Amino acid sequence: MRETDQDQARLARAGRVFSCASAVSSGVTEKRTIPCPGCGLAVPDIDAPTHAYIGAAPGCWEIYGRVLAREYGELRNPPFHRLTVDAYAAQHPGTESRRSTQSVAGHLIALHLVFEQGLAPEVVTKLMPAIVSKAESFRWLMPPSFVGTFTVESVANAKSAEDHERAARRWAESVWRAWGEHHETVRGWAGAHTLR
Ligand SMILES: [Zn+2]
Repeated sequence: MRETDQDQARLARAGRVFSCASAVSSGVTEKRTIPCPGCGLAVPDIDAPTHAYIGAAPGCWEIYGRVLAREYGELRNPPFHRLTVDAYAAQHPGTESRRSTQSVAGHLIALHLVFEQGLAPEVVTKLMPAIVSKAESFRWLMPPSFVGTFTVESVANAKSAEDHERAARRWAESVWRAWGEHHETVRGWAGAHTLR
């Protein structure tokens, strides 16, 4: 990630939004971009819907929507699809609330089960109801920096189905690694649910 992107990500996490492309100059308006408050990706500053508690800029949410559309359509909802959902939610934790706390915890447990326990994504999906039923025991985890991690853009840019899956797995694993300081807590939650 470039230095300027790192700066943008830092400012985004500090709650500031700024333009990296100066507007009107000699009569030409450049497209304004803002850093996504979740993943830090520089995205077009568009006026569009985003999720209620997943902390994503509309421009990033739109890219995610295109990735999901490809997975549901052309790729026919493959098993690794859940990694896309887990990675996106875990990389866009939003701010502390009951729903965001439970969402982030559930998605991190899923990433742990795939990348550390070696469970297939489809097996993890079957375990999710048991995980969610214990959600009141989860607590808010202070999100890490995602500087240097892959983003949904790396999946959106994939040129083939194979590339798409490879990029999704690589992105999800990098998001899991970024949460390193909370791995023990997540392992504890997963263990508490006797999921193996
Ligand atoms: Zn984002």
